[in-house]
This record gives sequence, structure tokens and C-alpha cells, in this order.
Amino acid sequence: MPLSEVTGEDLSALLSKADRRTLAAVVTHLSGDPNAIPDLADRDHIERKAAEVLPPFINGERQPPVPDDELLQAAMDLAVGAPVPAEYRTYVREQTGIGPVEPLEPIDAPADFKILVVGAGATGIVVARRIQERGINNFTVIEANPSPGGAWWTNTYPGCRVDTPSLLYSFSFHQDPGWPEHFSPQPALLSYLREVVQESGFADKIMVNTEVRTLTWDEDAALWRVGFRHPDGTTGTTEANVVILAPGLLRVPKYPAIPGQDTFAGLSWHSARWNHSVDLRGLRVAVIGTGASAQQIVPAIAPIAERVIVYQRSPQWLLTHEKYGRKLTGQERELYDRIPMYREWNRFSESWRFGDGTTPFVTVDPDWDKPGSISKENDRLRTQLLKYIEEQVGDLPDLMKLVTPDYPPFTKRMLIDNGWYRALRRENVRLNTSRIEEITPTGVKTVDGADVVDVIVYATGFQADHYLLPMQVTGAGGVDVTARLDADPKAYLGLALEDCPNLFLTPGPTAYLGHAGNAMFFAECHARYITECLRLMVEKQVRWMAPRREAIDTYTESVRTALANSVWNQKGVDSWFKGDRQEIVTIAANTVIGFWSQYRGVDEDAYVWGR
Ligand code: NAP
Repeated sequence: MPLSEVTGEDLSALLSKADRRTLAAVVTHLSGDPNAIPDLADRDHIERKAAEVLPPFINGERQPPVPDDELLQAAMDLAVGAPVPAEYRTYVREQTGIGPVEPLEPIDAPADFKILVVGAGATGIVVARRIQERGINNFTVIEANPSPGGAWWTNTYPGCRVDTPSLLYSFSFHQDPGWPEHFSPQPALLSYLREVVQESGFADKIMVNTEVRTLTWDEDAALWRVGFRHPDGTTGTTEANVVILAPGLLRVPKYPAIPGQDTFAGLSWHSARWNHSVDLRGLRVAVIGTGASAQQIVPAIAPIAERVIVYQRSPQWLLTHEKYGRKLTGQERELYDRIPMYREWNRFSESWRFGDGTTPFVTVDPDWDKPGSISKENDRLRTQLLKYIEEQVGDLPDLMKLVTPDYPPFTKRMLIDNGWYRALRRENVRLNTSRIEEITPTGVKTVDGADVVDVIVYATGFQADHYLLPMQVTGAGGVDVTARLDADPKAYLGLALEDCPNLFLTPGPTAYLGHAGNAMFFAECHARYITECLRLMVEKQVRWMAPRREAIDTYTESVRTALANSVWNQKGVDSWFKGDRQEIVTIAANTVIGFWSQYRGVDEDAYVWGR
């Protein structure tokens, strides 16, 4: 049905399926009246008002206005059902596309100013796109895999999907390619990223099947000398004035420190290296780990394999979401496609729900001393999550005990229930919480016994805190940057490394958030900041820029202080936020708006600018 025909009863039927808050924001925005919706609880009024206001926008007689601050603020408050601080206004204009979006200043770089982007995952893609948008065409993207796509190319395990709403887990400049599901499965995400590359027009600048192995700063030439390798063993070199490393945080598989892995006579693989040639029907499968990957794998393979034994070191807190794993209904798709500004306002309300709306749950109350929670709000959430566990497995008290965490919600990354508890209830699935002693030729030996299995799946995560693996980076003065970063992961704003002029690592240490935001958003923030640095280099006509050590130390000190007292820093609780260490290194304790603001402009005094 053409857009203009959604009127009368069709429109009323559609509006009855709309999210109330989102619709209230849309009506406010399109009516131009900040007081159009006096009562957010009055759904009938919101729908009536929408039926009155929307038709000229639906049939194309009127275009959505660019809201002034008062109108925007009123719509923002309605979209989340609470007052939103004014500092979010520019963020909302940009991240939803409601606008206006201030264009970034073009960069008039000399033709021989060459940029190398390492990695064509979501981050490398948006970095390349921003470089190009700002007028620089002399850039190459090097990608180790045979295709762009990063984590969404490498992770193909059964059940693989995103656990952030797709409308949010997308770039602000391309929010909805027609997402098939609310939380898209891996193939949709991979094709989305490929689509962005095609649309952006730099597919021919991506060198696939090329893995960067060495980067050496040539002080005299003020260039990075880069060595790479192809899968057939052939090698090559290139050079660049500026290198932007976007290799991916969750990239290098981490195998557990369990002896005997090489002795196993069956087949084994890591979750991020799924072996699709093996049919699991009739096989006994051990899955080691209970993180985000295992949570998706186990429910997907349990109906196929003969037996699945899940080895849990610690249980996880699981949220539930009624749209998770569900396709968009026809009406939900129509709301996005036919109601002007519905998608945009929905993106903002989701960004709040999956963003700073969670702040009360992660803010530590220093006077709170109830074990297992960090504040009243966090405890309230804990109670809700416990109730959910009880609903799922309350009739199996032994299992319930095993799957109930004793640490506060949000200490590890929160997950969404993907049928995990239902899978654990199955006859052919067993949860084994005994400590694994060793892998034997026949299976897995724990302190309490041995299981004979045909396949072992290591869903044991990634070496998130070893940023540069397997690249050997040699910085100014011959410093072994790879080793130094492993020993003490720090970088100015989490992006600029000591002794590494003209080099950015995105994300580097503490350049992510653990509870809010998402990889696409973080990448956009970083890309903006990095291209601002490029603009300044060109404007100042310098050959190099490098972060001052004091700037790195001051930044690191403040981030580490905030992290030390955060929900993520619970003694004895491991997560990829800590990696192999006792302290948090991969994320920062910040709000989404704080994160976004941090990368808006460049403090020139934090850098040395060299001619
Ligand atoms: P992960 O969250 O780091 O989980 C690794 C799991 O392996 C943990 O359960 C860990 O136990 C366990 N483990 C490690 N060593 C072990 C040992 N020796 N014995 C038993 N268990 C051991 O890794 P992941 O599941 O691959 O997920 C990593 C991140 O990737 C996620 O947090 C998320 O950011 C991203 N991801 C996202 C999605 C999605 O969007 N849906 C899907 C997959 C991954 P402990 O908990 O005790 O440390």
C-alpha cells in the first residue's frame, strides 16, 4: 500500500500497535506543539491526536519540521517518559537524524597524505567513511579476513545474533536497511555492513586477505612502515602518514588455561571459529563457558546434538526482552516505514533504555552494604532478575541454585535470555559446575568426574586486553609498543598511544562502555574524534602529532579511579572488562552522553605537534 493510503481505519489500526512513548514524541514533534501530549498515560488521547496530526505528513503534503530546542526537549522527555537533561539535545539530533546535523569541516589534505585503516569491521568501516566524507581519498583499508564485516564475519556459530536492538545497533547515517528482526541475526548484520561499504563507495579501497603484522615508526620520514601477510604466506609492505588501527576488541580467541587441550582425540573449536562441516546430530558436545556466545550456542544446538554438557565457572544475570528472537510484524515494519519520525524517535527511546536509562543500576551507593547488589536500584533489579530465574527453573531448586549469580547485576555485561534456562531444563542438557581439571583424549575431566564427549566447543571469549595481537608495533625510539601495552594498557582517551605519533587505536584501553551504548555508536564517536585530529594536522601543517605522556597519565588516572569504585570492579568476578588482570582495562566508567561528549573535540594541548 502506498504511503499516502495509510489513513482512516488503517491508520487507527496501525497506531494501536505503536509504542506509546514513541508515538507521543512523534505527535509532539510533528504538531510543533510542545504541549500536544499533556498526559503520557492517556493512550487514547495520544492515538487520537496522532490520527489528527499525522495525515498531511504521511501523504507528503508537509515535511517534518526541524524542532527547536523547546519542542525537541518536550519530545525527548516523552520518548523516555522522564525528564532528559538538556545536554542530550545535540546527541539526539545527530544520533536519530532528526537534525540539524552540523556538517564536519572538510579536510584539505595534500594528495600524498596517506592514511591506512587496519580492519574492516564496523569500526574500520565508519572510520573510512568519515575520512572519505571529509574529503580525503588517499586511504586504504587492510582486512585480514576475506570480507569486510569484522566480528559479524568471524562469528557464525548457531544462534549468533546481536543483543542490542537493531534499530540502535546501526550507524546514525544508515539506521534501518529493513531489519528483519528486532535483534538481528548474524547474516543480516554482515550484509548490513557490506551494504554500508558498497553505499559508501570505498569497496575498492579494501585489501582483504591481508593481515598487518608489523608497524614501525620511521622518525626521519615521519611515516609508519607497515608489513603484512596474505593467507598463502606471501608478504608485502606499505607505508602511511597516519595509521588507524581498528582490529576489533573481541577478535583473538581466548582458550582457557586448562591442560591437555591438544590431547583431545575428538574435534574441538572456538565459538568464533565454528566448524560448519560437522553435523552435531548424534554427537555428545561439551560447551565450555557461559558468556554471551555460549548463551546463544547452547539453545541452538541442544535440539540437534545427542547430549550437551555445559561447563559453567560462574552464572550470568539474564534480562528478558519480549522482542528478542522475534521477527518484526507487518505492522511494526509499517510503523517504521510509514509514520514519519517514528523510527527516529524509537531509536532515541531505545538508546535511552539501552543507554543512560541504566545509570541508576550501575551507580554505586557507598553506604549500601547488602551483598550481591550495589545500591537500592541495583537491588531492585536483582530482585526482578531473581524472580525471572524462579519462573524459569524454580521447580528445579538444584538447578536454580547453580544458575543464580552472587555478584551484583551489571558486574559482567548483562545478557538477554535466549532460551538459556529452557535449554538447561532439557533432558539431553546437563550443567556441570565442577572445576575443569584437564582435557583428556576422551573428553573433559573435572574435580568430580569425567565426561566422554565427541566435540568440545570453547565459548571462552577473547583476548580483549591484548590489543595489538598479533601485530608487532615499534614506536618512536624503537619502543616495543605491543609489549608495553600488554604490560600496562593505557592510552590518551583510550585511543592515542605513547610513542606512537600519527597512530590511533580504536578501541584502545578504556575506550568502550560495559553497560550501555554499542559498538556502532562507540565507533562513530571515535571516528569523529580521529578525523578531527587529522583536520588539525592538516590545518597546522605538521608532519606528526603524538599524545603527551602527562595527558595519557592524567586521563588514565581519572578513568582508573572511577573504575576502581564501579560495579564492574567486584573482587573475584572475572570478565573481559578485566581480561587476564585484576583491574578493569577494556571499558571506562562513563555515561553514554559523557562518552559522546569526550570525543566531540580535540584538546590540542594534549598533543605534541611536530614539523
Ligand atoms: P565471555 O563473555 O568472555 O565469556 C567467556 C566464558 O568462558 C565465561 O563464561 C567464562 O567464565 C568462561 N571461561 C573462561 N575460562 C574458563 C575455564 N577455564 N573454565 C570454565 N569456563 C571458563 O565471551 P563471549 O561469550 O564470547 O562474549 C564476549 C563478548 O562478546 C560479549 O560480552 C559481548 O560483548 C560480545 N558478544 C555479543 C553477542 C551478542 O551481541 N549477542 C554475542 C556473543 C558475543 P567466567 O564467567 O567465570 O569468567
